[in-house]
Amino acid sequence: MKQSPIVARTRQLLADHNLSLKKSLGQHFLVDQRVLERIIEAAELDSSTGVLEIGPGMGALTERLADRAGAVLAVEIDDRLIPILRELFSDRPHVTVVHGDALKVDLRELIKRHLGSARRFSVVANLPYYVTSPILMRLLEERLPLDRIVVMIQKEVAERILAGPGTKEYGSLSVAVRYFAEVSWICGVPRNCFVPRPQVDSAVIRLRLRREPAVSVRNEALFFRAVRAAFAQRRKTLANALSAAFFGGKRKEELGNLLTDIGIDPGRRGETLTLEEFGRLADALDRMIETR
Ligand code: SAM
Repeated sequence: MKQSPIVARTRQLLADHNLSLKKSLGQHFLVDQRVLERIIEAAELDSSTGVLEIGPGMGALTERLADRAGAVLAVEIDDRLIPILRELFSDRPHVTVVHGDALKVDLRELIKRHLGSARRFSVVANLPYYVTSPILMRLLEERLPLDRIVVMIQKEVAERILAGPGTKEYGSLSVAVRYFAEVSWICGVPRNCFVPRPQVDSAVIRLRLRREPAVSVRNEALFFRAVRAAFAQRRKTLANALSAAFFGGKRKEELGNLLTDIGIDPGRRGETLTLEEFGRLADALDRMIETR
């Protein structure tokens, strides 16, 4: 079978540099032209946009980002890929390749240093599966100056992020991401669009970051703690789950009254609460802890 130019190029680069791929780093390279175009389209780039790409791999997506964006900063953990990427983009001064772990490097400082002249910033990435949630949560919780995040992630994780209350996919990730951003599904991506082929399908989603969180809460850390507690033991009623997480299994009655007071049935399960109800709950808990 004839290979597409992008598959051929990826294979050639690997052979030229005598590289074997590291599955432990989620190295499944995207080799489907149409999916690359969909990602670029969804990113809504122009020459005033600075893009942070996490995990550029062999540079297939980086190349297209470089064609559209004002500046590209690509952070790659695998030191073997750094010289290849730097060589590939040696004639494109608006592309900077940095060696580092996206979970550890100072992203705010890197964005300022390498994308500083852009008017707005986006993240566009085909994320390594093994760190999808921590990377996404880092990008959101640190309140980096981002406009959009367009990421390819495992399909099940995309479904979890987009899930609504009362479904089995709905969880703390759905609530947390929606707190910071409006999320939309861009497209599903079958596993045969990658080399080597992963064991799962993928999807591209877009996050448009909100200027203000979706609900305003008195204590954000407590809000996230309450969300995590509500989903930690999905079979427990809300009053029981909160009592276990916050009060060592005590004060169930008081919690029941507090929930009733804010219009939430204490017998409900956490997984049925909307974002707005979680906001109300966190504020009430904050007041309860304050007046203890
Ligand atoms: N962007 C390329 C593409 O679309 O073909 C490669 C995507 S591949 C799914 C994920 C890439 O992320 C790999 O190149 C891997 O080495 C890199 N990576 C894995 N963990 C990383 C981390 N913590 N920080 C930065 N890059 C990472």
